[in-house]
Formats: sequence, structure tokens, C-alpha cells
Amino acid sequence: MIRHHPNTDLLTDYTVGSLSLAPTISVTTHLKFCDQCRDSVHSLKQLGGALLSDAEPETVSGDLLSQTLAKLDVESVTQSSAVDALADAQSTKCDDELKGIPNYLNKFLPRNGLSWRKLSSSVTVAPISVGETQYELALHKICAGGKTPVHDHHGVEYTVVLKGSFSDEDGMYHEGDFVVREPGDVHRPFATQHEDCICLSVLEAPIKLKGLGRVLNPFMKFQPS
Ligand SMILES: [Zn+2]
Repeated sequence: MIRHHPNTDLLTDYTVGSLSLAPTISVTTHLKFCDQCRDSVHSLKQLGGALLSDAEPETVSGDLLSQTLAKLDVESVTQSSAVDALADAQSTKCDDELKGIPNYLNKFLPRNGLSWRKLSSSVTVAPISVGETQYELALHKICAGGKTPVHDHHGVEYTVVLKGSFSDEDGMYHEGDFVVREPGDVHRPFATQHEDCICLSVLEAPIKLKGLGRVLNPFMKFQPS
């Protein structure tokens, strides 16, 4: 059972399309697991539609109206097709261990398969490039019983559990759970003993590993000691 969900603010931003691509992918992935949040998004869309239809009409010049409609046309086409086009462009090649994750996500995985790198003795990471500049998107795998290095966050991190489960100081997270870590949070996730845990991670800024005294990009620069 899913216990951890995006909050209402995040679902609202998602519904109106104001999230950038990587957070959008993470929320959509959670929705593939979560009926409750799918219902919430549906309700938010209905609410948005009702608010628009209740708005008092204002008279505008024909020129302003046509200019606005033209702009809306371009923006809505750009927004709605961007994610689909990117999904189509990427391969659907799938590692065996990723069988069972939402099909939606497979479409964003690299054409030549994932490139897993060791982050520590029990954690590997596979970056996913979607042309996002504000966030880093990646899969993290913690081997059964393994622990990640203790780290704190300089930016927000969204994590969706795709397979298995992990725990940290605040609780336990299972398939489909959506976990938010805010800047300043310090934690040390570890996987349950009997199976590997694979998560989708969206990280806003580099994190700093405790004790190393320097800021590291965990996906690209961290070398196991
Ligand atoms: Zn949910």
C-alpha cells in the first residue's frame, strides 16, 4: 500500500503544467502506481475547468484575443508534445532487473541501455538524460541490505520507489511511494535485507557528503573510497 504521496501544492503545479520535465516525469511515474493521486489530479483538472468557466467575461480587442490564442496554441502544443516526443525518441530497451517498472518510464531510458556506475560499495546509479538543466534525473539501486552514504541536501529531491523498498531515519518506503527531501535534510537510506531497491531520483542541486567537506555531484563525480 502506498503511504507517501506528492503534496497538494506539487500535484497542483503538476496539473497546471508548471513543473519542469524531470519532476513531471517523477510525479507521472508515481501516478502510474497511485489511484489516489490520479483521482486528485482529475479533481484538480475539473476544479480548474470550473474556475475558468465561472470567470466573468471581459471584453478584449479582436487583436489581443487573436494574439493570445495564437500564443496559447504554441505553448500548449509545445508543452503537451514535448514529453511525448521525448518518450517516442528514446528506446524501450529494458534491463531484466527493470522488468515490472512502469512502461511510461522505460521510454525515457537510454537507447543503448543503462550505464550503471558505482557510487559506493552498495549503491549504483544510472543517469537518465532528458535535456533537463535544473534537475538531475537518475535511477539509484541499493543492493539488498546496503546503505547509502550519509548525505545532506542542498536542493529538493524527489524519489519514487520502483522496486523493492528502503528505510531511512523517518520511515520505510515501498513500491510507488513518493518521497520528498528538502534542502537541509540529512539522511542515510538503506535497502531491506531480502531484495535490491531501485528508485527514480530527481535531484535539484548537488549534495554534500558528510565528512568529505566538499560539494559533490553524486551522479558524476563521487568516487568510492
Ligand atoms: Zn499518491
